[in-house]
Amino acid sequence: MKHVVITGANRGIGLELVRQVAAKGHAVTAACRRPDAAEHLLALQESQPEVDVVPLELNDAHSIDRFVHELDGRGIDVLLNNAGIYGQRDATLGKVDAEAWHEAFHVNTIAPLMLTQKLLPHLRKGADRRLAYLSSKMGSIADNTSGGSYVYRSTKAALNQVVRSLSEDLRADGFIALALHPGWVRTDMGGPNGLIDTETSASGLWSVIENATTEQSGHFLNYDGSTIEW
Ligand code: NAP
Repeated sequence: MKHVVITGANRGIGLELVRQVAAKGHAVTAACRRPDAAEHLLALQESQPEVDVVPLELNDAHSIDRFVHELDGRGIDVLLNNAGIYGQRDATLGKVDAEAWHEAFHVNTIAPLMLTQKLLPHLRKGADRRLAYLSSKMGSIADNTSGGSYVYRSTKAALNQVVRSLSEDLRADGFIALALHPGWVRTDMGGPNGLIDTETSASGLWSVIENATTEQSGHFLNYDGSTIEW
């Protein structure tokens, strides 16, 4: 049984990842901002007692510290940084709002590294040493042929650099760090026109994470395992 930590676990891709990973018999620490309001997670916990719901607000350094404290030195096999925001929807040239940009950078880029740094002693105790970060194809510079979306695109491109540095810095310790695109998924963020459902995305992502080789560490991978150009 692995111990898997998943952020943004109360809805969307994160919730489905919790459901699927717990169904495989793994212990899951499901992090979300408001456990008391996380009705789907709490319902899931009734049938899957190995799901532990723990509060985590990525915009608050104290909340990150409390989250780490809650884990009480327990080893972690897989850290799945799923939580993220699109931020300003109309971030087109001439309309970009600096405050909205700051917030998106914090949640999408800075907080995942802060959480990783603080959880490193736990991750070193785990057997699997896997770090997964939900990036986006919209963060791919090679794929950007339509412009716009300055806020979201830049935060995910920067996250990709974070993942790449982590893969280099932790390679000798046997860690595998992955930047992952979940597909265009029908969630609150992806909207109703997304190409795939959360079940397809989560099962693909988990398979990529479980089967990733050390040679793939520092790569940008699609939920189907194919490589995405930076
Ligand atoms: P979603 O349905 O909007 O869910 C986002 C999750 O992140 C929610 O659980 C949310 O919690 C959490 N979150 C947001 N801000 C947070 C904060 N400050 N602290 C802690 N948790 C926070 O999004 P999704 O579609 O499942 O996306 C999951 C990940 O995949 C994101 O990183 C996203 O950028 C990436 N992605 C999604 C798509 C897509 O098509 N859906 C495509 C490419 C990449 P609350 O409920 O408390 O807000």
